[in-house]
Amino acid sequence: MISKRNLIFIGAPGAGKGTFSALLTREYPLAHISTGDILRGEIKRDTELGRQAAGLMKEGKLVPDQVVAGMVRNRLTEKDCEYGFILDGFPRTIGQAELLEEALKSLARKLDAVVYFKVDDDIILQRLTARISCKNCGEIYNKLFLPPKQDGVCDKCGGELFQRPDDSLETATERLKVFYANTQPLIDYYAAKGLLLTITELEMNAALAQLKAGLA
Ligand code: ADP
Ligand code: ZN
Repeated sequence: MISKRNLIFIGAPGAGKGTFSALLTREYPLAHISTGDILRGEIKRDTELGRQAAGLMKEGKLVPDQVVAGMVRNRLTEKDCEYGFILDGFPRTIGQAELLEEALKSLARKLDAVVYFKVDDDIILQRLTARISCKNCGEIYNKLFLPPKQDGVCDKCGGELFQRPDDSLETATERLKVFYANTQPLIDYYAAKGLLLTITELEMNAALAQLKAGLA
């Protein structure tokens, strides 16, 4: 059995990376590293980094490569990354992929697989603009697929539900545009290294089984 525990998930916002990550981390001690989550944490704590990132994120633009790559390198040195990790939403550019390669080399780690979630645009836009989350505990709902029991109220904590500013149709469309412009070169980059695993909606279960086999 060959272990494949150091993973990258690539997919448009709303393509299902988060769901997949949750399914895997429930069973295996993988660290789930989402650069979007880390950045939102920085904004919430109103750090210098958070203040720099907030404006870019609101417009659906990317935070500079060096900044996110530095964040990820720090994160990878933490103890919970030892068994393996899922990088979710990073790298987003070739520049970031190259910085990641350097970082992993310096940490004596290597990548095992890059999973690409291929989902149609109309489905993605529908999902994104229907996404709402709890102001208080962060729980995520979807007006279409996973509605809260009571409109606008969190099932878990009773908190108020809201739409993330970058999930508006306008920003979601901009984020998709940015995603495709940056992603195709990245897909080609990892395909050339023989690391790419592409999954479509139909093959989700098969892909999940394949990933789990590598984690044991
Ligand atoms: P989603 O939840 O839609 O997958 P994320 O939460 O990953 O999106 O990212 C939200 C925003 O954070 C992005 O639009 C971008 O501004 C910033 N961001 C996250 N990850 C990166 C990254 N790897 N490089 C540059 N910017 C990033
Ligand atoms: Zn809540």
